[in-house]
Amino acid sequence: MERELGLKTFGDLIGFYPFRYIDRSGITRIADIASTDAAVQIMARIVRVRLIGVGSNIIYDRVPDGTVPQGGSQAVKFNLVKRMSVIVQDASGEMELVWFKGVKYMFPKMATGGVYVFFGKPSVFGQRYNIVHPEVDIPPSGGASMGVGTLTGVYTSTDKLKSHGVTGKVMNRIMASALEQSLQFVPETLPDYILNEKGLVPKRFALRNIHFPKNQDSLSKAVRRLKFEELFLLQLALLKQKYVRSRSAVGIVMPKVGEAFNACYKSLPFDLTGAQKRVIKEIRADMMSGHQMNRLLQGDVGSGKTMVAVLSALIAVGNGCQACIMAPTEVLAQQHYANIQKYLAPTGVKSALLTGSTGTKDRRAIHEGLEDGSISIIIGTHALIEDNVLFQKLGLAIIDEQHRFGVEQRAKLWSKGAGGIAPHILVMTATPIPRTLAMTLYGDLDVSVIDELPPGRKPIQTLQIVESKRPELYKFMESQIRKGRQIFVVYPLIFENEKLDYKALEEGYDDIVERFPLPDYKVAIVHGQQTNEVKQFNMDAFAAGRANILVSTTVIEVGVDVPNASVMIIENVERFGLSQLHQLRGRVGRGAAESFCVLVKGTKVSKESQKRIDLMCRTENGFELAEEDMKLRGPGDMEGTQQSGLPVSLGIASLAKDGLLLQEARDYAEAILKDDPELKDEKNAPLVQELRRGKYNVAKNFSQIS
Ligand code: ADP
Ligand code: MG
Repeated sequence: MERELGLKTFGDLIGFYPFRYIDRSGITRIADIASTDAAVQIMARIVRVRLIGVGSNIIYDRVPDGTVPQGGSQAVKFNLVKRMSVIVQDASGEMELVWFKGVKYMFPKMATGGVYVFFGKPSVFGQRYNIVHPEVDIPPSGGASMGVGTLTGVYTSTDKLKSHGVTGKVMNRIMASALEQSLQFVPETLPDYILNEKGLVPKRFALRNIHFPKNQDSLSKAVRRLKFEELFLLQLALLKQKYVRSRSAVGIVMPKVGEAFNACYKSLPFDLTGAQKRVIKEIRADMMSGHQMNRLLQGDVGSGKTMVAVLSALIAVGNGCQACIMAPTEVLAQQHYANIQKYLAPTGVKSALLTGSTGTKDRRAIHEGLEDGSISIIIGTHALIEDNVLFQKLGLAIIDEQHRFGVEQRAKLWSKGAGGIAPHILVMTATPIPRTLAMTLYGDLDVSVIDELPPGRKPIQTLQIVESKRPELYKFMESQIRKGRQIFVVYPLIFENEKLDYKALEEGYDDIVERFPLPDYKVAIVHGQQTNEVKQFNMDAFAAGRANILVSTTVIEVGVDVPNASVMIIENVERFGLSQLHQLRGRVGRGAAESFCVLVKGTKVSKESQKRIDLMCRTENGFELAEEDMKLRGPGDMEGTQQSGLPVSLGIASLAKDGLLLQEARDYAEAILKDDPELKDEKNAPLVQELRRGKYNVAKNFSQIS
């Protein structure tokens, strides 16, 4: 059990819940089966098993008295078997079950005299009903001393366990025995007042009924109790963490806005959007508060986060501090630097760029400038967190595209604050994540959302085409290039089939070069196997408008700004996740021209991929896409979560399905902390106990905090 399912203790075992239930009350008598039944469940005894070959030739016939009239039992040649026919009987009548596939596997299990629960769709065959490929379950045993109900739990298992005799029935018996021996020692984890206020059943009742439900109602109550407990304790842990930190983490007080801020603000060629203004106010309030800011800034691609970052940095500068802005890649850092310098021009604030490729001499000068305070804003990559980078007075650290940074790297940045005071932290992400996930992933951070795009953006037209229509796509590209537009062509790159992917990329590139030859056209290519110089050369050619087409892997995914590029073509679209597609699409639609995103799909696309593609064509709203993505793939697989990871793994609740309960749990946790911020009240003692236990010890598991 430990090796196969990771179950080591009685506690693990009784915390291992069924994934579905067989409903014994839902058993239909064979005589009552009707042609309108979508599916039926029967409980019946096997009376005859026959293996039938070509031309209805009976190869094997097993009857109740054990005589074998034709053929021998050992000598069955399964490759000659066309189907297996099993006749089963209950008190009301008999019917046939048929297998065309998997006969070799099922046949040995079909002992005459055995009683099983069969589940499937009945079809009319001649005068009678039969079921093709029914599900077969061992009938509920009633589970030793525990079971009185009609619902029997079905547990996840493995082939190894099954082949070693741990069948469903055995699993039920093990559970019954485990509960019998250990339930009396299971403490109530939630205080009485919570059970009363929330109408929850006691823990022991919940555990007994999740494994051996008395009836549907008891099962629902058990499920609600266990889900609520899980979500509530997690939210309580996160909120408590947030509370403790906001109390204890002293922050550098920044009371002023400062001249630099005003100079920059006044010279902006546009008005800030309402959302940008609101977010800057929130940030400013944090920086004035005396507590360390820990804020997440979520905003769709193109929503203007850079502007917010610059103005925040200028507040720090206006209060005699330095600020750093950290980007995940060299290309992005450079682009930020170029943009930010424009904004800084009217302020006289000195900034610098520090990346892995900064030369030794420049590097030394930058290090000095940071130490003596002559450089106020430093923009860079991971190079910023190296040990020898010291600040005179770092007051604000801004991290762009947060999910690419690891925990330790963040911790290093924290430690660079002035006089042992951690800098204010602003994490920016363009990956919209669903609300329930944000509540959990960033449950201990304050969250600001820019939910408004700058005015004047034209919607991006998103189209899908089958790859066989490529000639038409090329015609379209040609017409766009004639209008002076530039085009991105993106290929997927996924590690396992890297070689194949590069082949696809290179073939695609060759094809495009052939169709769009020199000297009329220029096609650039960028991928991860190039050296930095080659990459940069190609990117620059495209950014400066010297190349019409940029063929690339997803290296351009994040941040790159080329306003004249108005067409995004995504090859092998079925291989991308929704949020990645959304990020890619966000690369266009930044200039004045009408923009397009063309999704190129294969001839055979799975239903789920098609759903994603349709959704992309339907909406441009990143949050809506993220919600759908989570429903399609589950929260664990969503981009942006793999690296930071959920602070705990949920056992029974689901972020995708239990959004309402999660909100209820969070509101309730908030209310409790409002009355008793440190959980010192005697009545909350059981909660403190639970939070100390491994699972909810978020300080240990949670990646956002150092
Ligand atoms: P993000 O980083 O959120 O993807 P950026 O900060 O790169 O977005 O902004 C995208 C573009 O929008 C930039 O060219 C920027 O100059 C412009 N921009 C930002 N704020 C505004 C605004 N309030 N009005 C008009 N344009 C804006
Ligand atoms: Mg950006």
